[in-house]
Amino acid sequence: MLIIGSHLSSSKGFLHMRKEAVRIGANTFQFFTRNPRGSKAKKLDENDVKAFLEFARKGQIPVVLAHAPYTLNPCSKEEKTREFARLTLEDDLRRMEYLPGNLYNFHPGSHTGQGVEKGILLITELLNEIMWPGQQTTVLLETMAGKGTEVGGRFEELRRILDGVRLPEKMGVCLDTCHVYDAGYDIVHHLDEVLEEFDRIIGLEKLKAVHINDSKNPFGSHKDRHEKIGEGSIGLEAFARIVSHPALCHLPFYLETPNELEGYAKEIALLRKFG
Ligand code: FE
Ligand code: FE
Ligand code: ZN
Repeated sequence: MLIIGSHLSSSKGFLHMRKEAVRIGANTFQFFTRNPRGSKAKKLDENDVKAFLEFARKGQIPVVLAHAPYTLNPCSKEEKTREFARLTLEDDLRRMEYLPGNLYNFHPGSHTGQGVEKGILLITELLNEIMWPGQQTTVLLETMAGKGTEVGGRFEELRRILDGVRLPEKMGVCLDTCHVYDAGYDIVHHLDEVLEEFDRIIGLEKLKAVHINDSKNPFGSHKDRHEKIGEGSIGLEAFARIVSHPALCHLPFYLETPNELEGYAKEIALLRKFG
């Protein structure tokens, strides 16, 4: 059975997200660890987390994906900005230990003019400072659209981050369909070739999750504007191939499309026909 869900608001806690997930036909979900613009995190409600873990253990929600605030920039040229990213990611990872065995995704960041080399170096240094051997969370690098000075628009860049960290076994990649298509990987006409390239450069065993979004913009546009499934430049037929592809179909899929719950429910039902 396809493992699929959507992004949900975490403001009412884990039990509430679980309820919403079940209501829309999802068996996983993604949530922001805190306000997506990166403010202070609310204290975790331990009873809420405990009750949620009971359900998770029964297999109803096999895995969840936490998403770091998207405004963090771990490879900014400003030290203050990098420091804020480090403190936030570090705090999130500690909090994730209350939900052992799940996934934590972040955007590698933008090098803000320092060059890709320097950006990659800053990201790996930061990861080496905050990750520890006993950590139970898998940290994912998200594939990016390559907008502006974004790092992670090429598989090679993600590979080099993984090569630079001391605990690569605790890391993986989250493939965002809108981002890779915008970045110039043609998953519409050449899905097999793109996945072969991913395997050659990063290794498919490193792929741990998929963000499933259509794109408002054409192939290679480096824009990063998500669209509803089937209403953008990627199109429904390509998504049918993506969710049923033998290299992908076992992974958890997360919708980040411009939708309310009802729209997510429709997309999940639609995609389940192909998966
Ligand atoms: Fe993201
Ligand atoms: Fe994404
Ligand atoms: Zn995006």
